[in-house]
Amino acid sequence: MTSIESKRVQYRKYLERAGVIDALSKALIKLYEEQNKPEDAIRFVRKFMCESCPDDAQYDLMKNDLDEAKTTIARLEQELERLRGQIKKSPEEYQELTMAGYKSLIDDEENVSSLLRKYLTPELLEEYMLVTTPSPVDAYLYDCAVSGFEHHDAPVGIYAADPECYDVFTKLFDPIIREYHGQEENDSDVLQKDVDWGNVDEIENLDAERKYILSTRIRLSRNIEGLPFFPKLTEKQLIEVEDKIRAATETMDGELIGTYLTMGDIDTETQQEMVKRNVLFARGEGYLQTAGCYRFWPTGRGVYHNPAETFMIWSNEEDHVRVISAAQCGDLGDVYQRLVTGIQELEKNLTFIRHPSYGNLTACPTNLGTTLRASVHIRLPLLSKDEERLKAMSEELSLTIHGTGGEHTPIEDGVMDISNKRRMGFTEFELVKSLQDGIVALINAEEELEIAGQEG
Ligand code: ADP
Ligand code: MG
Repeated sequence: MTSIESKRVQYRKYLERAGVIDALSKALIKLYEEQNKPEDAIRFVRKFMCESCPDDAQYDLMKNDLDEAKTTIARLEQELERLRGQIKKSPEEYQELTMAGYKSLIDDEENVSSLLRKYLTPELLEEYMLVTTPSPVDAYLYDCAVSGFEHHDAPVGIYAADPECYDVFTKLFDPIIREYHGQEENDSDVLQKDVDWGNVDEIENLDAERKYILSTRIRLSRNIEGLPFFPKLTEKQLIEVEDKIRAATETMDGELIGTYLTMGDIDTETQQEMVKRNVLFARGEGYLQTAGCYRFWPTGRGVYHNPAETFMIWSNEEDHVRVISAAQCGDLGDVYQRLVTGIQELEKNLTFIRHPSYGNLTACPTNLGTTLRASVHIRLPLLSKDEERLKAMSEELSLTIHGTGGEHTPIEDGVMDISNKRRMGFTEFELVKSLQDGIVALINAEEELEIAGQEG
């Protein structure tokens, strides 16, 4: 007998001895004899074989217990996160963590392509490792770089833990900002022009016949002066941000009149539905998680929105404030008008932090400048088939194209998210106007392809 055969024989003997064959046979015979064959045959067999299996009532009780246990675990995890957030690290611990983090980048050289890795030289590491921003925030380089140290696939790898970081660690942040925003050739100290909303009437409905554009959205990020960014916000400050937003939205007028809802008061199911409708946000990806974006969740998080859900203000999503104007059509003019009215109203009651060189300050260096991302979800079935032409056009028109599920999502059914590629070095108006021009050019190209198709 080969060794496999002998193993089989041994195994069969073992199953017989243990009564497994007998029990299985009995269960199958019982099922065979059953007049009304049960829909769920596996459940029938399982029930037959396991005499002590719970009945339906017991099962429901156990399920309740499990749900309760899950709730308790979630509460304890939150508590743990809260307590962890209160632990202060000593300078020696910071030094150790920073050196270990840097070493992990160096050791993994072939997989790391972040701007953090590119610009954090051993000399800068040495110079900045024990430097902090002013008290009481005391942000270290480590607080900014922890996410990039851990996530080796991150393209940027650094966040500002408080507004001061941009100046205290300037030899690291400045080249990263210049490279990301295409300002390497620009040796001027001032990278961002003053705010200019321009002549709002020049921005139009880009698809009055509702043929191509499914929806339009513009968002801005803002942070309130005098408070650190998310990596260093205390639990109290998260609530302070929310209170300030709640109070500042009380004077909203006309179509901007709405209600503020705090995340903790919205049940999970409703939250999920609101996230699907893009009214509310959920916890996001790992880079932000490691950087400390979800500390004390859901404390201080929430949304102000009007009943039509065309105007939203998010509290403590990533930056303190995100202002969003949207429409289920291609009326960019209407969306822009509402955004400008909303931010100007908000600015009457809140002071947002601005930098002499970088414009509006945000936690993530990629959002600096105008912080403006204007996008349309648009269906261009013919043009989207010609990937090369689309890519060339988007580059020439300074547009970013991706799927409608957010960054890194694929284009499906010819529906794309198209937005302005640039955020810095141009005014708000210039960016929205250039998106308008770009979308008009793409729609014209699609129409030409339609006509060519009809003629051909
Ligand atoms: P942001 O840069 O504002 O974070 P994301 O690409 O992460 O933008 O999108 C955030 C959410 O907003 C996603 O759920 C996305 O589908 C939605 N969204 C973005 N642009 C539009 C648009 N023009 N129409 C409808 N939904 C949009
Ligand atoms: Mg986002």
